[in-house]
Amino acid sequence: MQLFITRRAVLRGLASGAAVLALSFNVRAAQAKTSVVAAIPELAAIAKEVGGDAVDVYTIAKSNQDYHTIETRPSDVARLSHAQLVVRIGLGLDPWMIALSNAAGNTAIKPGGSAYVDASSGIPTIEMPNEQISGSSGDVHPEGNPHYYYDPVYAIFAARNIAKGLLRVDAAHAAMYRAGYARFNQDMRRRLPGWQSTLAPYRGKKVVTYHRNYNYFLRRFGIVQAGTMEPRPGIPPSARHIDALLATMKANGTRGVLIEGIYPLKYPNLVAKSVGSRVVVGPYSVSSLNQGAYAAMIDRLVDAAKQALSS
Ligand SMILES: [Zn+2]
Repeated sequence: MQLFITRRAVLRGLASGAAVLALSFNVRAAQAKTSVVAAIPELAAIAKEVGGDAVDVYTIAKSNQDYHTIETRPSDVARLSHAQLVVRIGLGLDPWMIALSNAAGNTAIKPGGSAYVDASSGIPTIEMPNEQISGSSGDVHPEGNPHYYYDPVYAIFAARNIAKGLLRVDAAHAAMYRAGYARFNQDMRRRLPGWQSTLAPYRGKKVVTYHRNYNYFLRRFGIVQAGTMEPRPGIPPSARHIDALLATMKANGTRGVLIEGIYPLKYPNLVAKSVGSRVVVGPYSVSSLNQGAYAAMIDRLVDAAKQALSS
């Protein structure tokens, strides 16, 4: 009897052991995807294109949140503590990621760590400030313009930086990551001539925007950014600044008013009316992290720029 109970207990033990084994196998299967945390949806979408089914991608900032002022959550710290790769915007736009990374206690995701990617690496920065910008000025671009991710060519740079990071942390899927990067690179290069020909008639023409978000994009297509609603990056418009902007626009014949989707339209409407044109709203974020989402955002931006320049 004693033996019988013991054998039953052993069998039960074996059965539950098998269940534990099966469970841990399932957990491992679920964890087989490399966990990537990106700062913003655009970099998350690019990471998804590069990593495909081998990655699980999460973005800290959500679509159409102002990326300069992201309020993070405790759950973001947990995400980062388990992240296998972290993709930062760099160029001073995501200091909130520094605070999160410090709180996460994951040394690999800190600058110089194997799991750290600065997506801006290798991108020539525009609008570097001439003088040291102090915190009190309120200027949110102390390291130059950080909005390179609206430029489809610099998106290829970001994709390459992400691919390098993925190869470091998950060599087992190296072939997939190389193929994902090659596919994204080819897709951008295939689409670029179409975007260029759509905007070719407007080369040298001028637009104003709300913030300096689209400056890399506009430069790429030969369009002149002739001013912003904000007097300085991150400083809200004032009546005095809008007067000065209008005087400049009237003097140099600027009619295009291309406003990034997250901003209020009170001043843009006033400006457009004063120069006899209309406000065109462009995309601020990708609308999903799915395949093709990044290119779809550029499609919308090219279309918005075309509308603004022909109004
Ligand atoms: Zn900015």
